[in-house]
Parts: sequence; structure tokens; C-alpha cells
Amino acid sequence: MITEKLLIRVKGASTVTVLTGAGISAESGVPTFRGKDGLWNNQQFEELANISTFEHEPQKFWDFYNWRREKLKNIKPNLGHFALVDFERHFSEFHLITQNVDNLHRVAGSKHILELHGNLNRNRCSQCSAIEEHGSDKIKVPKCQKCGGNMRPDVVLFGESLNQEILREAQEASASCEVFFSIGTSGLVEPAASLPYLAKANGAYLVEINEEDTPLTPNVSESIRGPSGKILPRLAILFDKLFT
Ligand code: NAD
Ligand code: ZN
Repeated sequence: MITEKLLIRVKGASTVTVLTGAGISAESGVPTFRGKDGLWNNQQFEELANISTFEHEPQKFWDFYNWRREKLKNIKPNLGHFALVDFERHFSEFHLITQNVDNLHRVAGSKHILELHGNLNRNRCSQCSAIEEHGSDKIKVPKCQKCGGNMRPDVVLFGESLNQEILREAQEASASCEVFFSIGTSGLVEPAASLPYLAKANGAYLVEINEEDTPLTPNVSESIRGPSGKILPRLAILFDKLFT
């Protein structure tokens, strides 16, 4: 349910932070982590998407990532992603923190994005950190044009920690906002799972949009049940009215 209280808090807010997880891309056809799709439930995934596999068996690692890129090649943002582009226009400070690596928030047109787990479209050199924006696929083990080192997808692999600068920005954006939305995330993966609590501890109005209950649900100010591709466009229309 969308309450009057939420609309009042949004109208009075100049700083808003949104956290998204795999659920927001489900309606674009991207399987969620804990969904029905076998791959993500598979132990093998944790082995393949692992820093140690990249270091010791780069060919096997890249075969897997080329396959993943191939699967995500034709996906498009859904109405939920586009609604968040709309949200951004209304607030002087707006941050979109995402755990997704699928690039769909960028394609939709969101501006202030913090990609906590990186972006599958990009490559990064394992030696000199040079970035290649559109990582070429189907190449056996891509090499860095600057130093010749092995390229890797610019995502956080199992066995690695997050980019500390991006994490710090995400924590600041969470701690300083007036309204915080947690959308399509199971709230089980740290450190992202702690961000809504940082917001709440600093007085933010905490809103969860999810198809199911999560460990965060008992702690939110407001829980809106249902698919984000339907709820976010409804909210975007209400927000448009609030600010006109
Ligand atoms: P998760 O798979 O653990 O949880 C998905 C959540 O979304 C669940 O709570 C589910 O109830 C909810 N959900 C499913 N469909 C929904 C919909 N249409 N509308 C609203 N909610 C919906 O995802 P997570 O919490 O993001 O953690 C998964 C980890 O795996 C992350 O670290 C992420 O980087 C990675 N991952 C990324 C992608 C992607 O880039 N699209 C996809 C799968 C996993
Ligand atoms: Zn290099």
C-alpha cells in the first residue's frame, strides 16, 4: 500500500537514496540470485565467478563470463528502471545504489549511480586497472592494450571485497538521506544489507518494495508488496503530481 505519510515525507525531502537488487531486473528477464534459475542456485557459480578461477584458470573463467554476457546481451530496462530515472528529477540530492551488474540503470538513463558490485559490461586490467568500457566478448582471454595484462570483467568476484571508495559513498548517501527505498533485494548480501539500517538510524523514512518479505521488512516504515515494474511507475506518477 502507498500511504499518505510516504507522499508527505517525499514532498518534504531534498535527499533521497535508493538501493536496488536483482529483483528490479527480474521483469527484464534477468534471473534473480535466489530465483528458480538453476545457475544462480548452483554451487558451481560460486566457483566460476571466483578470483581464484580467474587467476589459475583464466580460460575457463572467460568461457563462463562470455556465456553470461551472451545471455544478457539483449536485455532491456523495464518500467521500474525508467520510473527511477523520473524519481531523480525531483530531488536536489539523489543516489541510486545498485547491487546489480547488468548495466540496466545506466541504459535507462539514471545519473547518480553507485555500482556496488561493478558492471558486467566493463573490463578492467588485473595488473594496471585500466578500464575498457565495452568489454569485447568472444575473446579467449582479453589482454590490456596498455600493459598486456589479463583483462577481467569489472565486477566484484567471489573471494574479493568491494571497491572501498564506492562503498563509502554508498554509506554516506544512506546515512544522510531523508527517504530511503530498498527495492528488489533480499537483504542478505553484506555490506549492502546494512545500508537501510544506516538510513533508519539517521531518521530516514524507510520504504521497501518487494514481492516477498525479507529480513528488513519488520524494520521498515512502509512495505509495498508487488513487482517493482508495476509499483515504481505508480509512485513516479504520484511524485510527478506532488511536485507540479
Ligand atoms: P536476490 O536474488 O538475493 O533477491 C532478489 C529479491 O528480489 C528477493 O527478495 C525477491 O523477493 C525480490 N523480487 C523478485 N522479483 C521481484 C520483482 N519483480 N519486484 C520486486 N521484487 C522482486 O538479489 P540481491 O539481494 O540483489 O542479491 C543478489 C546478488 O547477486 C547481488 O550481489 C547481485 O550483485 C547479484 N546478482 C545480480 C543480478 C543483476 O545484475 N541483475 C542478478 C542476479 C544476481
Ligand atoms: Zn593493464
